[in-house]
Amino acid sequence: MARQLFVKEVVSFIVPVLNEEKNIKDTIDTIENNVPYEKLDYEIIIVDGGSIDRTVEIAKSFTEDNKKIKIYSCGGVKGFGHAYKIGVSMSQGDYIILIPGDNEVAGEAIQDILNEVGTADIIIPYFVNQNIRSLFRRCISRTFVWILNMISGVKLHYYNGTVLYRSKVLKGYNIRTSGFAYQAESLINLIKAGFTYKEVATKIQQRSSGKTKIFSFSNITSVMGFLISVYCQQISGKLFKKTNYFSKTNDFRKNGLSEISVPDEINYIAVFLTFNCNLKCGYCINNYEKGILKKGNISGEQWVRGLNRLKLRHNLPVTLQGGEPTLHKDFYYIIENLKPEIEIDILTNLQFDADKFISKVHPGRINRDSKFHSIRASYHPSMMDIDETIVKVSKLQEAGFNICLSSVAHPDSKAEIAEAVEKSKRAGITFFQKDLLGFYNGQLYGSYKYPEAVMCQTKKNVRCRTDELLIDPRGIIHRCTRDVYIDANPIGYLLDPDFKVEYKYRYCPNFGYCNPCDIKLKTNRFLQKGHTAVDIDFIE
Ligand code: SF4
Ligand code: SF4
Repeated sequence: MARQLFVKEVVSFIVPVLNEEKNIKDTIDTIENNVPYEKLDYEIIIVDGGSIDRTVEIAKSFTEDNKKIKIYSCGGVKGFGHAYKIGVSMSQGDYIILIPGDNEVAGEAIQDILNEVGTADIIIPYFVNQNIRSLFRRCISRTFVWILNMISGVKLHYYNGTVLYRSKVLKGYNIRTSGFAYQAESLINLIKAGFTYKEVATKIQQRSSGKTKIFSFSNITSVMGFLISVYCQQISGKLFKKTNYFSKTNDFRKNGLSEISVPDEINYIAVFLTFNCNLKCGYCINNYEKGILKKGNISGEQWVRGLNRLKLRHNLPVTLQGGEPTLHKDFYYIIENLKPEIEIDILTNLQFDADKFISKVHPGRINRDSKFHSIRASYHPSMMDIDETIVKVSKLQEAGFNICLSSVAHPDSKAEIAEAVEKSKRAGITFFQKDLLGFYNGQLYGSYKYPEAVMCQTKKNVRCRTDELLIDPRGIIHRCTRDVYIDANPIGYLLDPDFKVEYKYRYCPNFGYCNPCDIKLKTNRFLQKGHTAVDIDFIE
């Protein structure tokens, strides 16, 4: 969701789910019915830990109608803390609160917590009607609290509630635990670091369906491991060192992220900074998929942190594109802060202030030793004046940038493009013509390796493999351009500590409805013709 949609302060509800088909709807309803809309707005981020029931399908039905609800699938059970960390990094709100997808948190409790928003950095609920839980669970819970209070020196009623954090406080802390004790870890460290907190007495309700997963083997071992590690650090004197939580570090390692290797087969990295654009071209491929979702962008800091994880070989740049990438509010910050080893290409429509660009970006940061121009500017005849465009490109060339022009060879713009080619040639500017893609006036344009893939007639089951890494404006990685534009089938998240880039076939039931971009025969960035982004293995 675009951050600018909000005018009030926003609470991000992180909702981890695992096989909650009977509870997810009620959980969403409970949240939406209890936000105090007079002072707050909300977003809901559902993080699925690998449900095998209809949880994801039901959750997706909500995201279609409500841009304030997002869903991300981790693809496998990796722990409550892991899901929480992903939700936190995807969130855009001023405050963050966890609400489990089992609908155990009563609407009254949400109100009690949200009523305290702004009164402390951390609002910590504890439940006064614990007696609705089994005696066994109450005993375990009290023992856990007692041990933690004793070894940490923090005195809380409860560590595993639906804690609300000021977003910048929580995001400045690197949660290490992926298991169930993540909340205790964050609370102890942030309280010890001096952030203010307030405990709120409230009530819990009984889940309407299913059993709690708290006492799973993995949760128990994770909690035991956490308690032992707290104890060991305590006796070795290494516990709870104060940290500068607000340091704007771009070192991904300090944020609990590791380097990501990129297989040799990957030869294009598309970074869709934003889908927003300041032009409206009729043939825009971003509009090829109807109902393209524009759910907002991650911040420049998040882009830098995520992209700096990539271990890239020489001549494999990240290509900043869109929409119009310069519209990302942190566009210049991103260029300034990407690590020097990362080479940068830009696809732009040139609708930016050239003087500002020249003053902010050193040409050496963008130029690289390649046959392909690092800045590939698109000329759109119905929207742009060719003389002004050539003046701008010449200015950037004179400033030292390696820039070319290109245009879609649209049948309605033949004369304008011929004029543009001629004028560019005279000005010493390289001009490429690109195929129009998809259907226009009932005719299919473009050259395709698998023409039936774009006919939109019948669907086939195939295995599909791409040699492109496609990262959407929220940092979510998709298996093909079609999925980027319709926001489907995520295969990873740039800020997921466990994300790996894999060059492999993935099952797809949608062959026949592919986006032309994925199937077209194109000239790759080494100027080799006949390249196609995806490789299809027909299995039927
Ligand atoms: S400039 Fe590019 S992204 Fe913008 S509307 Fe035109 S084709 Fe689409
Ligand atoms: S077959 Fe088409 S729709 Fe399916 S993953 Fe490949 S490119 Fe995408």
